[in-house]
Amino acid sequence: MSESENKETATEKTSGLNFVEQLVAEDLRQGKNGGRLNTRFPPEPNGYLHIGHAKAICMDFGVAEKFGGTCNLRFDDTNPVKEDVEYVDSIREDIKWLGYDWGNREYYASDYFPQLFDLAIRLIKEGKAYVDEQTAEQIAEQKGTPTTPGTESPFRNRSVEENLDLFNRMNAGEFEEGSMVLRAKIDMASSNMHFRDPIMYRIIKHPHHRTGDKWKVYPMYDFAHGQSDYFEGVTHSICTLEFVPHRPLYEYFVKELADESHCPRQIEFNRLNLTYTVLSKRKLLQLVKEGLVDGWNDPRMPTISGLRRRGYTPESIKSFINRIGYTKFEAINDISLLEFSIREDLNKRATRVSAVINPVKVVITNFPEDKVEEMNMENNPEEENSGTHVIPFTREIYIERDDFMENPPKKFFRMTPGKEVRLKSAYIVMCTGCKKDEEGNVTEIYCEYDPETKSGMPGSMRKVKGTLHWVSASHCVDAEVRLYDRLFNVENASEVKDRDFHELLNPDSIKVVSNAKIEPYLAENAKPLEHFQFQRIGYFTPDSKDSKPGHLVFNRTITLKDSWQKINK
Ligand code: ATP
Ligand code: MG
Repeated sequence: MSESENKETATEKTSGLNFVEQLVAEDLRQGKNGGRLNTRFPPEPNGYLHIGHAKAICMDFGVAEKFGGTCNLRFDDTNPVKEDVEYVDSIREDIKWLGYDWGNREYYASDYFPQLFDLAIRLIKEGKAYVDEQTAEQIAEQKGTPTTPGTESPFRNRSVEENLDLFNRMNAGEFEEGSMVLRAKIDMASSNMHFRDPIMYRIIKHPHHRTGDKWKVYPMYDFAHGQSDYFEGVTHSICTLEFVPHRPLYEYFVKELADESHCPRQIEFNRLNLTYTVLSKRKLLQLVKEGLVDGWNDPRMPTISGLRRRGYTPESIKSFINRIGYTKFEAINDISLLEFSIREDLNKRATRVSAVINPVKVVITNFPEDKVEEMNMENNPEEENSGTHVIPFTREIYIERDDFMENPPKKFFRMTPGKEVRLKSAYIVMCTGCKKDEEGNVTEIYCEYDPETKSGMPGSMRKVKGTLHWVSASHCVDAEVRLYDRLFNVENASEVKDRDFHELLNPDSIKVVSNAKIEPYLAENAKPLEHFQFQRIGYFTPDSKDSKPGHLVFNRTITLKDSWQKINK
């Protein structure tokens, strides 16, 4: 094969693949690991998953799916102080909701504590690990800098017997937390800081959510992760860029175990950062603990459960992640891209309904008092054969207060005395006047309808400029509507260091409207995880926590248009 032919086949094979997939494809082509592909998603159960994790999940499960491999779910539960079963359960639920399945491959780093302990003992016996009795501060001081070597601990050269004895007693609970650690004996002068005798084990006396009081020593991430990958038969350990400098250490420890048959390989991609958002679990936990939001699944939270409650779909999250892609460079992604993705998806799937958020009454004076006319409203013009539903039309209706002006400026094509306007799926009406209270607030508007202009009839073809949504005053149902906006006011919220992050919170991130009026069809079909477009207003979903028959609550997923673009220009 000529060189150019060679290049062509290479491009053919790799076109459409991201760089991680290309590396995986190449390993498979070379028959590494016996041609097996096994990835893992390794969350620490110390918080709920967020949109950043979704990016990792789509990668880990996605690449396995693409090349016929498998993906493990591994709970990285090596720090009992912060971990909890509540988080384990939520993580499972969120991954399933995103549409991924780990079958029976659910694992826990804590399952490997015995093997990890054995490996530590072996490394001590081989003179590759020692117990250090210095304080964390002393150890940090001796680390050196990237350009100057570190200092060796005075405990570095104690005997194997002494190390074995101390490590076993550490685990028997004889010593206090922080009094000693087990360190790998590698190289205090290494140019890679992670090689300067990294800590392998520390003492923690807090009970573990799975292993209880069994262990008093717990492995550090660097000593647990690669080995756990190896024990599980993971072939590709895909993680984010901050682990690049850890990779040599990952490989160092794995080499202590790996045989000819397989060796896991770490590959890193750029993490997801979003404008107007923080994705640090510590800060998200703080928002929850301080009651600044309504739990981890508050619809303003960037958590998967928050996005779900807000009305986001798995498809929209995946299409967003697909859009931003995977690279080797850190960047911050614009949240309006995520918002674009949900608008695009909901435009296709949301049922169009009528809801009036800031109601004012309109009386159609020439419409009979007891008459109820059933109008047909299209469910979704974007979807073929989506059908119609019935909306009752009566003499008294509600429209949005903003849709009426007594003395409008030019180009106001909504309701105003002396002008015609179309009521969506009903009739063309002519406004004849209004009634006001003592303060001049409009309390009632009067109109006459033209019976020849019923929607769908030839007379309705007449040109009028505005079309308004409405609900029947006698048939509508009251609802609470929660209008959400971005949780943070500041574009680079996660990077601001000189101000407390509380100051960055958007004070208008939620606005509650308690007396919205909705059409009966919507009230009957308001089930959690259903998606609706309130015509002319936005996309909404019933709140999974608070909405009940008799007290319906809707969350605004997103406005119809991006209003921030305008404001920020
Ligand atoms: P912590 O700071 O508490 O370690 P974490 O966000 O790294 O939190 P983990 O539970 O350790 O949380 O993450 C599990 C996996 O998700 C890791 O492989 C991590 O690389 C990935 N991940 C976490 N945050 C992001 C993000 N913003 N973008 C992409 N992947 C992420
Ligand atoms: Mg982590």
